[in-house]
Amino acid sequence: MLRGRCECNAVGYEVSDEFVAALNCHCSNCRASTGSAFLPFGEIARVKLRVTKGEGSLMVIGDADAHHAMRCGECGSLLYWTARDGTYVRVAYGSLIDEPALKPTAHIFVGSKAPWHEILDDLPQHDEYPWS
Ligand SMILES: [Zn+2]
Ligand SMILES: [Zn+2]
Repeated sequence: MLRGRCECNAVGYEVSDEFVAALNCHCSNCRASTGSAFLPFGEIARVKLRVTKGEGSLMVIGDADAHHAMRCGECGSLLYWTARDGTYVRVAYGSLIDEPALKPTAHIFVGSKAPWHEILDDLPQHDEYPWS
């Protein structure tokens, strides 16, 4: 089990170390939502993540019954968001306390990356999704 948290520690979660994909997204929305050059995330079945602390502090962004993101309502940290048909979530790797076995394998949406940011590693780079 990997532990995760928000900035202010109001919310804590546990997630299995069984991510099925991990990517660094450079799209403009991921950059805006994090205030960072890119957003590293891992994808995993929704049932493998459990909020262990501060469930009442969670803030749902979007449609709770469809696509949405979960942030801490106290500090605003982005924690995870729904993917595919909602049976998967994407976890913001920056919110993990522990080290996941699966490291990001590629950069995606490099076509819209921040012009001031230079990618200095050797991971594959895709203009959009690797499969598009
Ligand atoms: Zn918080
Ligand atoms: Zn993105």
